[in-house]
Amino acid sequence: MAEKGSENAEYDYDLFVIGGGSGGVRCARFSAQYGAKVGIAEERYWGGTCVNVGCVPKKLFYYASHYSEDFKEAEGFGWEKIERKFDWLTLRGNKDNEIQRLNGVYRDLLDAAGVTCFNGRARIADNHHVLVGDTKISAEKILVATGSWPDIPTFTGSEHVISSNEAFSLDKLPERALVIGGGYIGLEMGSVWSRLGAEVTVIEYLDYITPGMDREISNEFKKILSKQGIIFKMGSKVNKVKSSGSTVTINYTDLKSSKDETLEFDKVLVSVGRKPYTEGLNLTKIGVKKDEKGRIEVNAKLQTSIKNIYAIGDVIKGPMLAHKAEEEGIAVAEILAGQAGHVNYDVIPGVIYTSPEVATVGKTEEQLKEEKKSYKVGKFPFLANSRAKVNNETEGFVKILADSKTDKVLGVHIIGPHCGDMIAEMALAMEFGASAEDIARTCHAHPTHTEAIKEAALAVDKRPIHF
Ligand code: FAD
Repeated sequence: MAEKGSENAEYDYDLFVIGGGSGGVRCARFSAQYGAKVGIAEERYWGGTCVNVGCVPKKLFYYASHYSEDFKEAEGFGWEKIERKFDWLTLRGNKDNEIQRLNGVYRDLLDAAGVTCFNGRARIADNHHVLVGDTKISAEKILVATGSWPDIPTFTGSEHVISSNEAFSLDKLPERALVIGGGYIGLEMGSVWSRLGAEVTVIEYLDYITPGMDREISNEFKKILSKQGIIFKMGSKVNKVKSSGSTVTINYTDLKSSKDETLEFDKVLVSVGRKPYTEGLNLTKIGVKKDEKGRIEVNAKLQTSIKNIYAIGDVIKGPMLAHKAEEEGIAVAEILAGQAGHVNYDVIPGVIYTSPEVATVGKTEEQLKEEKKSYKVGKFPFLANSRAKVNNETEGFVKILADSKTDKVLGVHIIGPHCGDMIAEMALAMEFGASAEDIARTCHAHPTHTEAIKEAALAVDKRPIHF
């Protein structure tokens, strides 16, 4: 690679990154820190989906909505009943301020690392040239990190039928909301609205929610959300969505009974998946191959079919998650610096931020069955965990799947309090190739929720202590 800041370099940049989101920014910063001369272009907002319309605003709304339960809970712990009023616009303003702050932080971090930032839409002119507006830039290596975009079916398109991009900027809390799609993004938003007082209905085409998740966890998750008041219309297909004034009318078919029904809402969130965002990049013209889902094909070193062009994050295969994009960004930076960067795709945790949380890492029971792997299951309910009992948060359980012969942990799935943080222990254990017995023999502090993990590990060999 050319010396950082070298006047005589063959190219303007050693690396040019397209997309200033989770993956692109990580790669740009790390590459610059490894000594490369790096440029990056961002067309919309620094920090990408995660900061602007994803993880960050969602987390803020989630955090705000949890108070509704805490106030109720507190009464059972001696607090007197106090009348509370919720102001949606205060929350929205708080969210806007936080995003603006983070946009600045991302830019400052890039500046501090010596990365040259371009505000504008980039497209690839040829293997070694990128255009940002009219500016032509040459680069030895190019990284495509342009993320994804909500998959929006043709029936959408009125101000009351929105995608997750608009969900955090509404003028008011919907009173009757429909979520089309029972995936994690729709359920997280739906459960925030529900906790803040909206009546929420979810229509899902399949018979179960959160496809891809361990089915036992997904069933329990649906049970808990239903108990909280969310209405589910499972095995149902939306036919027509029609807006009129301030309401939206939905016509759907219950696929089991073949009966059609019509419902009315004041907001509809369409959340049926996301697709890779590669529009206008010129990829096909220069010979970068994509798969049948429009994802850029890459090898284990994250190189595309054009060897000096790399791709990471939502635009390639794998879970669409910010931490996966970040790991890939770091891996590319390491590879370009001559190191052995790699991502362990078997150990990428996933968390659903609802109340309670859902957290998973590794294989599901359905995947192990499909792979004809022989496995053991250890489960432990939070109902028998002393800390969960004291806190009155006893819903859910820990499930550990381990290889029948070697006892190696193959997957961990948790629904319950604070499991979004607890899953890190399991990801670390799996990275180190731990057995269920290793976890069972690890001393866990008492009284903590993490003891449920130890108990589930003991239960793999049918010897839990407290059950
Ligand atoms: P992005 O972060 O999307 O960044 C791509 C950037 O490229 C964008 O800023 C875009 O403007 C820019 N761009 C695109 N084309 C061009 C071009 N031609 N020129 C210049 N710039 C361009 N993940 C989690 O891990 N945890 C969560 O809790 C979570 N919650 C989510 C909630 C919601 C509602 C959504 C929608 C997503 C959530 N995600 C979450 C997913 C996460 O946001 C994405 O997986 C992650 O942002 C992907 O990173 P990326 O770098 O691939 O793309």
